[in-house]
Amino acid sequence: MVGQQEANEMVRGEGIVKRFGHLTVLNGIHFQVKRGQVVVIIGPSGSGKTTLLRCINHLEKIDSGRIYVDGQLVGYREVNGKLLEDSEANIARMRSQIGFVFQRFNLFSHKTALENVMEAPIYVLHEPRNVVRERALANLEKVGLADKANAYPRQLSGGQQQRVAIARALAMKPKLMLFDEATSALDPELVGEVLKVMRQLAEEGMTMVVVTHEMHFAREVADHVIFMDKAQIVEEGPPEQIFGNPQNERTRDFLRRID
Ligand code: ADP
Repeated sequence: MVGQQEANEMVRGEGIVKRFGHLTVLNGIHFQVKRGQVVVIIGPSGSGKTTLLRCINHLEKIDSGRIYVDGQLVGYREVNGKLLEDSEANIARMRSQIGFVFQRFNLFSHKTALENVMEAPIYVLHEPRNVVRERALANLEKVGLADKANAYPRQLSGGQQQRVAIARALAMKPKLMLFDEATSALDPELVGEVLKVMRQLAEEGMTMVVVTHEMHFAREVADHVIFMDKAQIVEEGPPEQIFGNPQNERTRDFLRRID
């Protein structure tokens, strides 16, 4: 299917349906993320934002539809027109190219910040230790934590831990970064330092899909905003449109309520 891909396309979702039991959580989602774009997904709690993000790297299996990342079908192989589940090895390889930053950072508590960042490139990519170490230090510097390389997670604030988690994701040299409410678990005074790192990544041209409640960030950093409600994309467009002149009543209603 690579032939059908637009050259500048990083992610494409076609007719995504996801159910949990009888509950349809994604009901026919089509979306696109271009290379270098920051796409922010907003919407009420329970609308399916996190699930959509998790489907992109196959943490959730979709019930129908297709997702492509960089031209590759995610989670499945197409054989004679039929979709077969892809091998664990292929899925792991695909995931290793996609950075995922969660609400909870889940750092290894018995490892330093530097060791946390070095872990995956050594054990997943099997890169030489000295190369990984150099890059890990550069990534810690990028998130403003060069001086905390030898600190353990318990010695770091929530905001610092989340920045280590971002450095850890960057250490895999991802082509795409997914952020799932990366600042929601933080004390309010620590939110800004994490958003700053995300903004910097966006400015450097990283392709990002961001689920967030930070509307200020969405307005300023997004190239494209998707508003979801009740398992569907209700409205999408540039931030000026979604925030400045929303067309749909449900979008207007949501933005009014969170103001
Ligand atoms: P959002 O991120 O917009 O808050 P979610 O994608 O987390 O929404 O959830 C969408 C719906 O799917 C909710 O009703 C939620 O309860 C349900 N859901 C999410 N994950 C699971 C799961 N693993 N099992 C059952 N239901 C789930």
